[in-house]
Amino acid sequence: MNTLIGKTAIVTGASSGIGYETARLFAGEGANVVLAARRQQELDKLAALIEWDGGKAIALAGDVRDEAYAKSLVELAESTFGGLDIAFNNAGTNGEMGPTPDVSLAGWQEALNVNLTGAFLGAKYQIPALQRRGGGSLIFTSTFVGYTVGMPGTAAYAASKAGVIGLMKTLAAELGPQGIRVNAILPGGTATSLAEAWVDTPEKLAFVEGLHALKRRAMPEEIARSVLYLASDASSFTTGSALLVDGGVSINRT
Ligand code: NAD
Repeated sequence: MNTLIGKTAIVTGASSGIGYETARLFAGEGANVVLAARRQQELDKLAALIEWDGGKAIALAGDVRDEAYAKSLVELAESTFGGLDIAFNNAGTNGEMGPTPDVSLAGWQEALNVNLTGAFLGAKYQIPALQRRGGGSLIFTSTFVGYTVGMPGTAAYAASKAGVIGLMKTLAAELGPQGIRVNAILPGGTATSLAEAWVDTPEKLAFVEGLHALKRRAMPEEIARSVLYLASDASSFTTGSALLVDGGVSINRT
């Protein structure tokens, strides 16, 4: 596998779930990977696993709400691997869920700060590095929630992730002339730790699985393969796209 040979990628939210599997896949495809999330120990374990498999990775823990962290990740990519070609801004949180009148301002702001401002800060520092390279691929993780489907109790999450789609489309228009493609992946229900809050009983799990046309949730590896598509030259004419990888949850009515 060699679709990303010679490329360097930042992956945020790499300590678990979709980011973890994407970082492993990118490395397996030949990319140098900069691993980002809050837990250094988890990132170090993944870096060791990638190196064991013959790949190259470096890990730096921090919070995507921290502007200095966003800058440091790009500096690390350039100082360690000589440049940046791909960034997957994927770190995310549910924020506070529940009926909207019950959502606290702090809970609202947490979702906005991590999911939307974190994506903005990542892009702000990644873009000049991609420009120095003369092109690249910028990818965000959004969701079908609030985009194709309204789900009760998800106001902060849905608003923050819809904001990510607006950010992505703006950047795609700004950066297209410079050969930088910008897209978002919109996973359906995916079996990760973040999703546990949505399916914390067997009944809720069965309900969520049933919402999908495929009658199941995704494994994070399945989402990672679509992220690889957006990162690689296989998607060379794709930009400004909100790519649903949602098992048909957006079109299903049974
Ligand atoms: P996960 O909990 O396994 O991973 C979330 C990652 O984000 C972790 O690495 C965590 O450390 C990191 N993170 C969270 N807050 C952070 C912060 N402030 N700073 C730095 N890192 C932070 O869950 P996942 O499902 O793999 O989530 C990845 C993305 O996929 C999220 O943006 C999520 O909203 C999105 N998503 C998930 C689903 C799903 O059903 N699992 C569906 C659609 C979209």
